[in-house]
Amino acid sequence: MDYFGDGSRFGVNIEYYFEKEPLGNAGALFKIRDRLTSDFLLLNADAVFDVDFRRFVEFHKSHGGLVTLFTHPNSHPYDSGLIIADDNGAVNKWLAKKRTTARPIIKNRVNAGLHVMSPKVLDMSGIDAKAVGTVGGDGKPFKVDLDRQLLKPLAGTGKMFCYDSPEYVKDMGTPERYYSVCADYKAGRVTGKNLKNKQRAVFLDRDGTINKYVGFLRNIDDFELIDGVCEAIKKINESGYLAVVVTNQPVVARGEVTFRELGVIHNKMETLLGEKGAYLDAIYFCPHHPDKGFAGERIELKIDCDCRKPKPGMLIKAAKDFNIDLSRSWMVGDGKNDIGAGKMPDA
Ligand SMILES: [Zn+2]
Repeated sequence: MDYFGDGSRFGVNIEYYFEKEPLGNAGALFKIRDRLTSDFLLLNADAVFDVDFRRFVEFHKSHGGLVTLFTHPNSHPYDSGLIIADDNGAVNKWLAKKRTTARPIIKNRVNAGLHVMSPKVLDMSGIDAKAVGTVGGDGKPFKVDLDRQLLKPLAGTGKMFCYDSPEYVKDMGTPERYYSVCADYKAGRVTGKNLKNKQRAVFLDRDGTINKYVGFLRNIDDFELIDGVCEAIKKINESGYLAVVVTNQPVVARGEVTFRELGVIHNKMETLLGEKGAYLDAIYFCPHHPDKGFAGERIELKIDCDCRKPKPGMLIKAAKDFNIDLSRSWMVGDGKNDIGAGKMPDA
């Protein structure tokens, strides 16, 4: 407060709300409810971040939810609260940190602690603002927990969305994490990953590059990581480059794997990588194939598309989505198609 004051020195307005008694991490919102006249950003204070808020807020507005969570993959999904969403980003489930299933196959997607929120969420919660902070029958003041009481109940209602972003958001809540965040800051990795800035990526082929080549992979049990892949992808994660998978999956057009099954295979890939501390920033796949006339095929996918490698469609889509400078990025693969896609000039 001594440093920032009312913010006028920085061209902003800062107001403070003090809790006489700790009210839980969302109790204060009820005390300042009359000041919350439109959708607002709620940001956890024990994280270091540098994100393109304009982009985040635009996503929130265009999806029309009451809450948008800023989500990202992390290096320890096995003990994180994972978020399951549909293809449009609507949150269906929010899993507890401690899980009973030994190895659930789930996408690596974690709430980073940045939120866009409508004040309606407070009104809908059924929590009486006057009761917050008052001492109940158990002799304890009534507190409000953000995740448990306000956000998690919105899972599955279609009113909460998640915004996947590879930007830098990291907890600095322990001395070890604090020093790691400081090192990232000095190396330029915090600001560098803001999507306002041009990104660099290592594009990775899937079959034969990340997982053992078994021909057309149709069965999830055949998906096994190649030795050393976790360590390699971890190095990409630590380098500040994005790790982006671009894979041809004609098995979908052939009718041998459904979109849903392919999604589960990719969740297995993320789960296996996550167990060793590695993560992917995005996965793009081409479900098409140009040759028609086979039994069981999905005719609508039998097209001469722009995304099947060696065409660079997936790389160009990723470049658009994440502001990637393709001329400063790399393509890693085990086939001529990969080399071809990597060689194509920027479009
Ligand atoms: Zn395609």
